[in-house]
Amino acid sequence: MDIQQIDRGSVKFIRAFDTVEQIQDWWANNPMAIGCAFVGRSNVGKSSLINSLFGSKTAKTSKTPGRTQKINIFTFSLTKDPEHKVYYLYDLPGYGHAQVNKSMGKNWKEIMNSFFYFINGKTLLLNLQDARHPNQKVDQQFYQYINPELIDIFLVFNKIDKLKKQKEKAALNKLKPQLLKEYKAMTQIFFASAESKEGVPPLEQSLISFLHGKEL
Ligand code: GDP
Repeated sequence: MDIQQIDRGSVKFIRAFDTVEQIQDWWANNPMAIGCAFVGRSNVGKSSLINSLFGSKTAKTSKTPGRTQKINIFTFSLTKDPEHKVYYLYDLPGYGHAQVNKSMGKNWKEIMNSFFYFINGKTLLLNLQDARHPNQKVDQQFYQYINPELIDIFLVFNKIDKLKKQKEKAALNKLKPQLLKEYKAMTQIFFASAESKEGVPPLEQSLISFLHGKEL
């Protein structure tokens, strides 16, 4: 079969949520929605990676880390899909920035709490971490906070273009089995760069496989 891709021209912003009620309503009304959600420490390159995967204007690459405290929802389709099926992209607010009320602000907590409490099993979570600073305390806190058991998670180490030394890459590779063991919901770990695009195509293909796997 021909290789499918995310249809970069199909991506549409549909709405932004920042209240618990809106999020509850969303999941209540869309229990079968298939999609993916991106989350990570502020400044990890989440917007840049979303733009690499979904087209350059999808997420605003913010110059002020921690400012976007909303869940932005987009729809997208895949190329070579005669049915033009619609999938959902959730751009979640970043965590761990000092400006956001020390670590994780009240609004962030409420929003994330309801998002992950009501999330359906057809949504993949992509957690971005900085390849130079993996598994930071705030990343660990995030996992404790969402208590991931019922969802699939891909961990993406972004900014690998900044890893110049072989030693740094080896250290990341060594961390992989430990993380996979620790977080049962984490099914795959990727190395990527939103800047050089290295590692983005394999991530895109795995994401597409996930989406197809949830269609049954
Ligand atoms: P967000 O806060 O997580 O959405 O992060 P942004 O996408 O706004 O990126 C934060 C900064 O990191 C920006 O200056 C980006 O240009 C830079 N950046 C993002 N991804 C990469 C990457 O893969 N490599 C490098 N070198 N810089 C990146």
